[in-house]
Amino acid sequence: MSTRTPLIAGNWKLHNTVAESQALAGGVRKRVRDGLPCQVVVAPVATSLVPVRETLAGSAVGLAAQNVYWEDSGAFTGELSPALLLDVGCTHCIIGHSERRQYFGETDAGVRKKASALLVHKIVPIMCVGESLEQREAGKTLDVVLGQVEAATEGLDAVALAPLVVAYEPIWAIGTGRTAKAEDAQEVHRAIRDHLGALKGESWADTVRILYGGSVKPSNADELLAEPDVDGALVGGASLSADNFIPIIDAGVRRAES
Ligand code: PEP
Repeated sequence: MSTRTPLIAGNWKLHNTVAESQALAGGVRKRVRDGLPCQVVVAPVATSLVPVRETLAGSAVGLAAQNVYWEDSGAFTGELSPALLLDVGCTHCIIGHSERRQYFGETDAGVRKKASALLVHKIVPIMCVGESLEQREAGKTLDVVLGQVEAATEGLDAVALAPLVVAYEPIWAIGTGRTAKAEDAQEVHRAIRDHLGALKGESWADTVRILYGGSVKPSNADELLAEPDVDGALVGGASLSADNFIPIIDAGVRRAES
């Protein structure tokens, strides 16, 4: 169907002690054998990054941070830099999550700086975009989402952006149990790809993985992942239990094999 390798990413948000994170990571790694045609990444809280890296050692599961600051070091109390994330084995980092935009003032300009700094350090940014319910009901979904994508990639060309992953996460679907209809998700994903193609070149845009996020669970993962431009999922709540997360990985494998 697609030459893009599906990616299933678990965002554990502010959940789990070190022991709980390691137990969950241990459950996930059992499913992710070498050669699985679907990539899997987990994003524990910062205090669990090192222990989870140890649990995942030798496995194909990637390690993601949930946030980053764009400077390498300096007087930035409380922040973590791309260099430090690389130092603890992070392969990916979520940026621009709607919770960070809403509660911590993250802006498109900040997302762009974070993406740029991560890319310099060869960490794959998982860049989240998405509209609120109000914006959707006002018919502004594409304006908002494409505007976020454009602002967050401004000044970066396809070569610099090469490994970028975009996550389309309608805010009204995050943690609410409400999921976008598969065809609505596809429409936005296609528009994101077309827009990236117009801005940075179609051949690169065709390689960009665009994940869907927003109440993905075992019962809806196959339907979403059957859409041609839905290349994987960013999963919050359902990633907190291996019993729920593994069937979503299986849906990613089915997409890869279809
Ligand atoms: C998320 O936090 O990125 C997310 C999509 O959460 P949930 O799956 O719980 O809606």
